[in-house]
Amino acid sequence: MITYSTKVKSFLNQDPIPFLIGGSWLQSSNNQVFDVEDPSTKNLLGKVSKASGSDTEKAVEQADEAFKSWRKTSAKERARLLHKLADLCERDAEELAQLEALDVGKSVNNARGFDVPFGIESLRYYANLIENKDFEQVLNLDGVAGKSVRLPFGVVAFIFPWNFPLTLCMWGIGPALAAGNTVVVKPAAQTPLSTLYLAALAQEAGFPDGVFNVVPASGAEAGEVLTKHPKVKCLSFTGSSQVGKTIGQNCGFNLKPVKLELGGKGAAVVFDDADLNNAATGLAGAITLNTGQVCCTATRWIIQENALETFVEKVKTELAKTHIAPGMDEASEMGPVVSEKQLNSIFEYIKKGKEEGAEVIFGGNRVEVDGVSGYYMAPTLLKGTEDNICFKEEIFGPVAYITTFTDEEDAIRQVNSLDYGLANSVWTEDAVRAERVAKEMVAGNSWINAHNVFAYGLPYGGVNGSGNGGGVNSIETLFDYTRGLSIAQPVVVEELV
Ligand code: NAD
Repeated sequence: MITYSTKVKSFLNQDPIPFLIGGSWLQSSNNQVFDVEDPSTKNLLGKVSKASGSDTEKAVEQADEAFKSWRKTSAKERARLLHKLADLCERDAEELAQLEALDVGKSVNNARGFDVPFGIESLRYYANLIENKDFEQVLNLDGVAGKSVRLPFGVVAFIFPWNFPLTLCMWGIGPALAAGNTVVVKPAAQTPLSTLYLAALAQEAGFPDGVFNVVPASGAEAGEVLTKHPKVKCLSFTGSSQVGKTIGQNCGFNLKPVKLELGGKGAAVVFDDADLNNAATGLAGAITLNTGQVCCTATRWIIQENALETFVEKVKTELAKTHIAPGMDEASEMGPVVSEKQLNSIFEYIKKGKEEGAEVIFGGNRVEVDGVSGYYMAPTLLKGTEDNICFKEEIFGPVAYITTFTDEEDAIRQVNSLDYGLANSVWTEDAVRAERVAKEMVAGNSWINAHNVFAYGLPYGGVNGSGNGGGVNSIETLFDYTRGLSIAQPVVVEELV
């Protein structure tokens, strides 16, 4: 196990860790705190001040006040600050990775290699975009001199889930701040640490007071304020489809633009001509990455009948190699799930799936890890028919459900049989078929011979039950955090005599 860095130790030693509103580090107005647990050990990591409804209101007011001058800063200045924040995140990359490993239970090496750098790159991506993108477009119109302008909304509120707290926060605030908005961020109660640490870095970077506010609050209480407050001009929610519906309903009622990045039940269609070694490695990785707690990952594996046996043997071999250990263990490839509640929910799904006829063909059990007591379980494969709860619902753990298909049409029918539409993949050596199937699978993302593929400039978002997000890492995302304005003037054309 690695030892905590000195900065992490002193950050966690604050009792309780305060939150940031209007440039001041504050304690809860009603003296409440969250206990933050390390899921790898069940130890108490620290206490975080819990923002009340009135604290959240205050954050919105401060963000609105800050917007009055922040909106007038040049794109160059906003880009400079985002780069400065990225520099500080690089300086404290180890601290951010450790906090993510401690709080979420994820492997510290994954946090070092993915969560932290991906977040930093995102800040730089939007900093570069804002400097080079023209936000005024002159239109070529008959009889009217017109232009279309994109402007910041004002206060943008963010509500985030617990699975990738740091990366999702940077993916969200990067484009919103770059576009000239101020932000109020509500992290998940289970995993608020890296967001609070990031807020301190933003302050150090020189973002003006009130531009970046963080309120660790209860979901319902913060939701009540953020979906209704007239000074919140746009809301971005990442989380479950169930809560997303409530948020969408409340924002709709208040005519507030809302971006919803919701749950998923990604399918992977494996044809018999696929490179089965590649498919087995890729899909085993899809359920062990972040202990399967990944919205877009592949959890329905739809395998061509005659490839089933070979594929299953290969994937079992891959899963058996997974080193399950605490997040802070350098050798950890898969940590615990995030909480006891989440672990119980996963086992409840497995139990119901079995009752409905599914067979456990790998794992399905809790795992004891020497010297620690945490929420560990084995990566798990279930096999059965489509009319099973584990095929239909998002389990959000290291569990995949396997069905078989006879032909392409059957495979596509199975993929599209659910309302979720976040991300699917197709595995085949036939490029024409890959492209055809990729287009037929209804979702925001279709990946070929890989799963979980991200790149800057590549839009990523869900459709149907997975939300209406315009993307995470693309120009579309930047535009999601702007409002449109048309400026027009009639042109009088004098007739030549
Ligand atoms: P969740 O919906 O329970 O909670 C998400 C956030 O919403 C938390 O901050 C929570 O406190 C808050 N919340 C809860 N009730 C609320 C309410 N009534 N009003 C306002 N806010 C409320 O989700 P979770 O369990 O934290 O995260 C897992 C879910 O997130 C999964 O469904 C996963 O697929 C999804 N997710 C989606 C994406 C994506 O990009 N599409 C990314 C990551 C996670």
